[in-house]
Amino acid sequence: MSVDSSNNKSNSENQGQGTLYVVATPIGNLEDTSERMRHILSTVSRIAAEDTRRTKQLLSHIGADTPCFSFHDHNERQKIDRVAELLQKGDSIALVSDAGTPLISDPGYPLVNELRKRGMNVVAIPGPCALIAALSIAGLPSDRFVFEGFLPSKSGARLVQLHRIALETATTIFYESSHRIRACLGDMAIAFGEERHVVVGRELTKTFETVLDGTVTELIGMLDNDPNQRKGEFVVMVRGSVKDTEGLSESAKMLARKLVEHLPKKQAAKITAEVFEEKKNKVYEYLLNG
Ligand code: SAM
Repeated sequence: MSVDSSNNKSNSENQGQGTLYVVATPIGNLEDTSERMRHILSTVSRIAAEDTRRTKQLLSHIGADTPCFSFHDHNERQKIDRVAELLQKGDSIALVSDAGTPLISDPGYPLVNELRKRGMNVVAIPGPCALIAALSIAGLPSDRFVFEGFLPSKSGARLVQLHRIALETATTIFYESSHRIRACLGDMAIAFGEERHVVVGRELTKTFETVLDGTVTELIGMLDNDPNQRKGEFVVMVRGSVKDTEGLSESAKMLARKLVEHLPKKQAAKITAEVFEEKKNKVYEYLLNG
């Protein structure tokens, strides 16, 4: 069965072939379904689902009974040829993940990449995405942002990554789970400084939706004082690094302060200036006056 998608230019170039619809699904609230999403999920031949049981709950909510097959990180590569074959035959397929937009920290990238290389039809059915929902209510600059997905689970690797992005000037967004949210904020205090502004969107669109807003230290306090704030799913958004009136970033100042505990001021200033591409004199002055 093929689904009408006459607004898709590439479909007219691939007549007779089916289309892969990349369909965003709710991130918690099942009422966040669009008419187009319901239409596509009800009329495609099959649905490639990250977790078929979870997708069947959504299908039952919208009154559809479309056959599903499993398509997740561990079997994705084996299933690409089969999906391509079905599309060649004229079947249309919807790709869905457990929640939100497929490919965004979810399966689907190798499939879409391969289908695009083969010139096949791929169409987006846009909808919920946790990072966009969170950014839209955070009150942080949204003109430029960087999405970092999940941080490494081990603290050492996580700190390396956080130090790498400490100087990023755009709002930086992370996904985080309940197991690691506290440790993640602890490492952010080390890498970004305790005063960096962070907004955490928790359980968005769900019953216990919360937005926590403050410095890294304040957020750590909120989580330590209320264990409920460590439960659920999180989007962590960090304000980009800003230079203060002395023209030094928080991270440069932090490194300089740490180094000066062990080294003469001149040497600490020299190393900091090299690491952060700052002027040596500026760092030295900061150490003298700071
Ligand atoms: N593809 C999804 C999307 O478009 O947002 C993300 C999938 S990723 C495997 C799951 C992560 O997204 C969670 O660990 C959490 O960081 C974030 N997330 C998903 N739903 C959320 C929600 N309702 N509230 C806050 N964060 C959420």
